Amino acid sequence: MDFSFVSDHLALDFAATLTWRTSYPIDLLAEPADLAAWATQARLTDRPGHVSRAALDRAQLLREAVHRTAVAAERGADAAAADVRLIRECARGPQVVVALKSLGEVERSGGIDEVLATVATKAGELFGGDDRHLVRPCAGAQCTRLFLDRSRAGNRRWCDKLSCGSRANATAYRRRKSATLPERSET
Ligand SMILES: [Zn+2]
Repeated sequence: MDFSFVSDHLALDFAATLTWRTSYPIDLLAEPADLAAWATQARLTDRPGHVSRAALDRAQLLREAVHRTAVAAERGADAAAADVRLIRECARGPQVVVALKSLGEVERSGGIDEVLATVATKAGELFGGDDRHLVRPCAGAQCTRLFLDRSRAGNRRWCDKLSCGSRANATAYRRRKSATLPERSET
């Protein structure tokens, strides 16, 4: 599976692996192998190694804590104490090591525990810092992805212009067209 990394923050990309949360939720991390693939595509580690079912359960708990905290940040609300505690706990372990291998090449090493600790650390940096004010929900009809709006004007609307943005524009176009065209008469 190809995961998308369009949120401008790794922790928010992680939270978005449960898609369409309010209409037709699909868990993209349904199997341990999915988590291994996500970690590699997120360029967190070159070889995540074996991922256990227990590690996947931990990842899903962390993901949901990150999502709820991102929603709280976006709304200017308080984060749930239990979510803050979980994100803190997960960040305590050893992190992924990124080491220079040669010019233009790094080696990323760590198993799934190190990957989750690194995601939790990045989530902590986001929610504990000023960038938390840039968290926005995608305007896509069914999309529940949150992203960081780093646009200069602060008017980014879509997680991904090519998917959510163009789909919304196509719907608006169809609506405009059907509103202006006269009813087709029976012949
Ligand atoms: Zn979207």
